[in-house]
Amino acid sequence: ALAQLFEAQKLDTIGHLTGGVAHDFNNLLMAVLGSLSLLKKRLPADERSERLVTNAIQAAERGTALTQRLLAFARRQELKPQAVDFLRLFENIEDLLAKAVGPRVEIRKCIPADLAPLLVDSNQLELALLNLFVNARDALESGGAVTVAAAAEEARPTGLAGGNYIKISVSDDGEGMDEATVLRAAEPFFTTKGIGKGTGLGLSMVHGLAAQSGGSIQISSTRGKGTTVSLWLPVAESFTRAQAAAVPTAAEPVK
Ligand code: ADP
Repeated sequence: ALAQLFEAQKLDTIGHLTGGVAHDFNNLLMAVLGSLSLLKKRLPADERSERLVTNAIQAAERGTALTQRLLAFARRQELKPQAVDFLRLFENIEDLLAKAVGPRVEIRKCIPADLAPLLVDSNQLELALLNLFVNARDALESGGAVTVAAAAEEARPTGLAGGNYIKISVSDDGEGMDEATVLRAAEPFFTTKGIGKGTGLGLSMVHGLAAQSGGSIQISSTRGKGTTVSLWLPVAESFTRAQAAAVPTAAEPVK
């Protein structure tokens, strides 16, 4: 299951990256195609010129077909925000996360049961947590603890819109990062883990999820002490807790 999740995560990240590029590329190719067909009409009627333009048009058409396929692939990766009960979500993947960090890393959690539901894509949030836990494991070569905490917090980073947010943080007491690394950590493809080990896409995926969900991410780290990655995610105001749960219970009727 872990390998499948990593595979899904790679596809997701590639999907988000290709989506933007494919879109721009498609527009450029449309302009090329338009100009070529105008050119074709103005050309002197010799066979050779016509063949050259026809070849160019066909190549551009193959290009647009390809970008359409890329766009269709990227669209499948679009976020589906829904009301999410974070405690439930975390408990659902806790075994998987424990497997990801291994036996030498203790998992601690501090998630109140009455936390307001989040408005976020639950699959993506699971992948984000997996990324953060894998990073914690890598920072905890000789073991230690990773703590996940969630709380409604008044204090929040600047730039967030009004409304209520939940702060989710994943902390480890591992090797930490120096300042220069913290600044670059969320850049796509930035990694200090060496070829074949890190992709440099973990934190950029987490950052992308936060941004696309209307939230924010903050990374704080001290070399030799540990790292905390905090995610602010919006509260699903219009949903009741019962609706956030997949199956409403009799004790908690849908209002
Ligand atoms: P990757 O894990 O593939 O390198 P990430 O984007 O997840 O990609 O992380 C980028 C870099 O940020 C890592 O290579 C590492 O240097 C640093 N980093 C991320 N999380 C942690 C952490 N919990 N502790 C120490 N360093 C970290």
